[in-house]
Amino acid sequence: MQHILTGVLSLSATLAVAKAPNVIYVFPDQMRNHAMGFWSEDGFRDSVNFTGDPVVTPNLNGFAKQAKVLTSCQSNFPLSSPHRGMLLTGMFSNNSGISTNCVANRPVSDLRDDAMCISDVFHNAGYNCAYIGKLHANHPTPNDPENPGHYVETQVPAWDAYTPPEKRHGFDYWYSYGTFDVHKHPHYWDTEGHRYDINQWSPEHETDKAIDYMTNKDNVRDPEKPFFMMVSYNPPHSPYRSTEDCPEEDYALYADKALSELYVRPNADTTMAKAPSIRYYFASVTGVDRQFGRILHALDSLGLADNTLVIFSSDHGETMCSQGTNDPKNSPYAESMNVPMLVRLPGKITPGIDTELIMSSPDIMPTILGIAGLADSIPAEIEGRDYSGRFLGTSNVTPLRKGALYIKNSDGNRDSLGNVISYFPVSRGIKTDRYTLALTIDKKTGKLKSSLLFDDVADPYQMNNLSLEKHKDIVSELCAEMVPLLKEADDPWYTQKILSEMIPY
Ligand code: CA
Repeated sequence: MQHILTGVLSLSATLAVAKAPNVIYVFPDQMRNHAMGFWSEDGFRDSVNFTGDPVVTPNLNGFAKQAKVLTSCQSNFPLSSPHRGMLLTGMFSNNSGISTNCVANRPVSDLRDDAMCISDVFHNAGYNCAYIGKLHANHPTPNDPENPGHYVETQVPAWDAYTPPEKRHGFDYWYSYGTFDVHKHPHYWDTEGHRYDINQWSPEHETDKAIDYMTNKDNVRDPEKPFFMMVSYNPPHSPYRSTEDCPEEDYALYADKALSELYVRPNADTTMAKAPSIRYYFASVTGVDRQFGRILHALDSLGLADNTLVIFSSDHGETMCSQGTNDPKNSPYAESMNVPMLVRLPGKITPGIDTELIMSSPDIMPTILGIAGLADSIPAEIEGRDYSGRFLGTSNVTPLRKGALYIKNSDGNRDSLGNVISYFPVSRGIKTDRYTLALTIDKKTGKLKSSLLFDDVADPYQMNNLSLEKHKDIVSELCAEMVPLLKEADDPWYTQKILSEMIPY
């Protein structure tokens, strides 16, 4: 009797796993929310107060009509590694291990080995887990598998990294690298640590690998199990200077357009030396759209589309001459923080636009797990919120935050070798449904050094930096709303009561 019961239980457990949805998370690096063509189409245009970029993205346009689309997904710390830390762990940058970009002389920034990442949860739930593309979440160490004791690159300090199996957090299929920006000559290390040098545009090559994984070429996964696959395209990402960086056929779509046709955001300074880069930026976006379309097509061909949760998002955005800044990211501007968030699961998620939910980077992990039916497995220590009920329409019990925290850290103290061993929390702020506020402190005095305050409803392109003095009521309200966000993030501004004369801790 015991045997029969055990057999029945294990059979039902197997069936439960078999019915669980596959999950594909696709995220290019530097793709702002505005750079998707559907925002200029009927049914979408009226949900946002910006003019969509004039980009050709037919696959995303079609996908958006089948998906739940957020207007306000915010990359809290709009820089590669910190965002990835929050995405993978469901924790803000103080607890993910990744307090700023990962580079060899910054050992302070490294994905926590002991964190229960989204991939650990899927692995423990019986999923095959695959990571394809850019990772940029590890402190580069001298661990070149083909040259032990050496870095995988000669650049000093090293940026690129090889990720050994013990740091892969449940991903049992690996085809990845740390960070590397030669877009048509990328390289990867596979599950066994073999290196491949490729002469192909990286998103196209990674899509080839993703489709191989989906079709289970070479039996790389257990076909009885569902799979969780992250596909991390580096483009769109600088450099944007020639057709060495993007597909020629996509560049051709923009090559003859005047800059005045391409720069539709009135906050862009088109006299900047890099202004012509926008042609390569948009070409990279169109190229990524084509590759994303290949993944969707493969899902259809394999009969997997109906039981696969597909998410399209990005690390952070790209300023591309907006605000006259040369920094494409790492700022509180909308072009930098506002990222795509499109989520499709046929029959479970009703397509439509959600303009109320302001999603933060750490919310993505628990929300995906919740949609996949693994809410009970969300680790207790995470700081993100599970908004799956909002996507599935089953319940909306998770309360919405008033806004998204804005975070910027810079290097803190260094050891005798010059290695960065702490971080300085230089800026914090909040993005609400109406305002953006960012406060920057002086490293020596800890006092307010500069501020940005925008009324994003009246001034969607953030062209008037409002005086804090003249808008005291608004500033007080926003500072009060920052307190629970800073507390939830276990942020040093909360624990050290930074700017306590302004922020009512
Ligand atoms: Ca990035």
